[in-house]
Amino acid sequence: MNVELSKNEVKIYEEIIFDDNLLFELNAIPQMVVNKDRVIVRVNKKFTKLFGYSSEEILGKQTAKLTPSLEKFKEYAQYFVQTKEGIIKSEELEYKKKDGTLFWVKLEGNPINKSTDELLILWSFIDITKEVYYRKELELLASTDPMTKLYNRRYFSELATTVVQLAKRSGLVYSVIMVDIDKFKRINDAYGHKVGDEVIIALAKVLKCNGRKSDIVSRWGGEEFVILLPQTKLDGAAEIAEKLRKNVERLQVFAGEDNKISFTISLGVATVNFEDCPDVEAVINNADKALYVAKESGRNRVEIFQL
Ligand code: GH3
Ligand code: MG
Ligand code: MG
Repeated sequence: MNVELSKNEVKIYEEIIFDDNLLFELNAIPQMVVNKDRVIVRVNKKFTKLFGYSSEEILGKQTAKLTPSLEKFKEYAQYFVQTKEGIIKSEELEYKKKDGTLFWVKLEGNPINKSTDELLILWSFIDITKEVYYRKELELLASTDPMTKLYNRRYFSELATTVVQLAKRSGLVYSVIMVDIDKFKRINDAYGHKVGDEVIIALAKVLKCNGRKSDIVSRWGGEEFVILLPQTKLDGAAEIAEKLRKNVERLQVFAGEDNKISFTISLGVATVNFEDCPDVEAVINNADKALYVAKESGRNRVEIFQL
């Protein structure tokens, strides 16, 4: 059946539909209106449902009540700015419900009143918590080694590029430490692959916990690790390498029943020399050469690559 409406009939519907209040309240998307001071002046039903506040509780309050912290509230100020076109950029931001639950939303802002004195913005909150969670999981999977939780080789190279570019620009040197477990095949043979894995995990923890926050620790391959130390000269890196060697020497790994096993590592250290080895691959190569010397010289030692 084909039904058409006359213009007059459409008008009747328009009168009902163009009741802003009704549309705002029925909107399936949580929305709020804030003024230029980021004070909430209007919220719809979906908003109260999402945040857990009644409109009485939230009206007249600053949006700081909704952000995870005061710092975040200050940080988000940058998004409460109109572009030349009068549109407010959409952003992915974290918010907090009344019960303290944190969640992610995609925020879209539209100015209702564009005069600077009485700027009113309608904000729509699209819940993207699940998407952000899965994206973070994916990023973690792509950038880390599942066994040790250290960065994998691919992601290490990505991070290294940034550090190296910064070093080149500022002229600050960086160093690399290459680590390999001594006689690891023997551990695998004597105690099994599972204990071997535990040894690798224990070593990864030492490498991660004994360094500085800025150091980039990665699992390079089987039982080999590479550490990039930004803004570190050769002697500083050698000191850190020696500390790692000693800490690993003291370590004991549980190997079933009452067995506790010790193991050692060999380390090669190299520093960038902007003239002779400008890229990070060359520095890693030099650290590898030093590591080879450490192995040849009896293992459980630190060797420094000298140009
Ligand atoms: P060296 O002192 O010369 O380094 O002797 P090594 O026996 O440690 O020799 P190498 O470094 O070549 O040995 C690496 C061994 O590590 C070979 C491989 O079977 C083992 N391996 C590599 N990845 C893993 C892993 O994820 N788990 C376990 N358990 N073993 C691994
Ligand atoms: Mg090896
Ligand atoms: Mg080895």
